[in-house]
Amino acid sequence: MELYGVRIPTIVTDNIAVRCCGCGEVIEGRPWRVNILDSIAPEAPVSWTESAGINPGPFEFHADPSHVLDWMARRGFLFCRLSEVREIMRPFWLPIEPPRLGLCDGLHREDHEFVNPAVIAPERS
Ligand SMILES: [Zn+2]
Ligand SMILES: [Zn+2]
Repeated sequence: MELYGVRIPTIVTDNIAVRCCGCGEVIEGRPWRVNILDSIAPEAPVSWTESAGINPGPFEFHADPSHVLDWMARRGFLFCRLSEVREIMRPFWLPIEPPRLGLCDGLHREDHEFVNPAVIAPERS
């Protein structure tokens, strides 16, 4: 392989292959990185530091929103259907029992409409 014009003679392709967090397949080319913003929503009942083990990422995916939505669904996250899957998602703790994390791009003014991402994955692919 060649990186920035420097030949790297070791064969490490298998080890560095990036796999999609959504479908688990190797990503050819540029992965789509998604970060979860480390911020606390005003309505959050649980503070970010108290919340157990939210990994802010980046998570890497195929360039297809449905793969990101699949991943959210498996992690038990909800997705705001007024938002788009973007490189930076904002976390919102939802005041339900048990608390669930909803992800939104935060770019709309309406109230969030958090839904099960598996429901809207087919229409976003
Ligand atoms: Zn994928
Ligand atoms: Zn929203």
